[in-house]
Amino acid sequence: MKTRTIQEGGTRALVPPVPDDGQLSISSASVFYNPEMELNRDLSVASIAAFSQIMSSRRHLEMSEITYVDALSASGIRGLRIAKEVGLNVTLNDWSEEAYTLIKENAAINDLTDKVRICLGNANALLHKERYNIVDIDPFGSPTTYLDAASSSVINMLAVTATDTAPLCGAHLNSGIRKYSAVPLNVEYHSEMGLRIMLGMIARDLARHEKAMHPMFCHATRHYVRAYLEVKKGANKTDKCLKDLGFIAHCTKCTARSVHYGMAVHIPEKCELCGEETSIAGPLWLGPLHNREFCDSVLVQLTNRELGKKEYAVKIVELCRNELDIPTFYDQHLLTKKLGISAMPMEELLKELTGDGFKASRTHFSGTSFKTNAGLKEILDILRRF
Ligand code: SAM
Repeated sequence: MKTRTIQEGGTRALVPPVPDDGQLSISSASVFYNPEMELNRDLSVASIAAFSQIMSSRRHLEMSEITYVDALSASGIRGLRIAKEVGLNVTLNDWSEEAYTLIKENAAINDLTDKVRICLGNANALLHKERYNIVDIDPFGSPTTYLDAASSSVINMLAVTATDTAPLCGAHLNSGIRKYSAVPLNVEYHSEMGLRIMLGMIARDLARHEKAMHPMFCHATRHYVRAYLEVKKGANKTDKCLKDLGFIAHCTKCTARSVHYGMAVHIPEKCELCGEETSIAGPLWLGPLHNREFCDSVLVQLTNRELGKKEYAVKIVELCRNELDIPTFYDQHLLTKKLGISAMPMEELLKELTGDGFKASRTHFSGTSFKTNAGLKEILDILRRF
């Protein structure tokens, strides 16, 4: 296979040559490597390092005693970076023989041959057979077909990527329903919708194994969503976790929304603000997306490392750290367009909201979005004042 050498963080890898006709070629190359996901991998290195350090100090473990599996490794770049830059005990798996051969070469050029385990096989078979402290699922498209096996395998942390944003965000509704056993809505907060639909699915998969999830850091960036979830075993913990599943009633006329926690819940059919019929999304995750202290630890890891996408990664984590952790965000531009007025600087809007006694923050989802515990009526009143 023709290859070129790339470097991410402190790790080198041989990958297929740059395709000359875009994304399609990346996915049809004999071994998958997407340079756009360097940011995702930089964030993975920092997040998994932060989590492993917390684990190691709580349980007096060496980093090399913590097991990590990248069940869908392709070139191996993600897992090799975790082995080299974090020092965990890493297993790399792929069912493609070409990927398996390339992972071996990549382990060798990083002097990791004796330090990582490389497997050729079906991710689900491996994960149903073996337990790992940290399980990473980073597929092309939807992670859903790996979630049962990943839930069976994981002990402490589950990291999951989904790149099928159209089904997740309701743009391809039937595909979303098929894959995620939930109804996503294609609304202005579609990126948050996608993240919460994926998290809802993961919570339900883990629950079958009596495992509960605690989101530590979750983000929607460009064409993908990514979640780092602490996992805890136990029926009571799982029951408690499932209380954060529920539904969103969204009014497509005035964009008011109400959230309804629980799987057995009465959802009002009419919008409380304008009386129009609402559309219902769910079941989805309505609980927190971030743990502040964990985001602080990730920021320390990012700051102390040489990373290609450091600046962007820091920005995402900082925004997530400071984001008001409630569903769902509003888009200022959409609201002001509906009112026929021009948008105000975001800092001023946030100041007005907090001045009126509400909580408010920017979000990592987009530059024009904000979160607040004010209702739509109060938000519109503030926007009209200007
Ligand atoms: N995690 C990689 C990274 O960060 O560069 C990218 C992985 S790539 C998107 C997905 C890989 O999963 C492909 O190499 C494919 O061969 C492999 N794959 C797909 N289904 C699989 C399965 N059921 N078992 C094992 N490998 C699988």
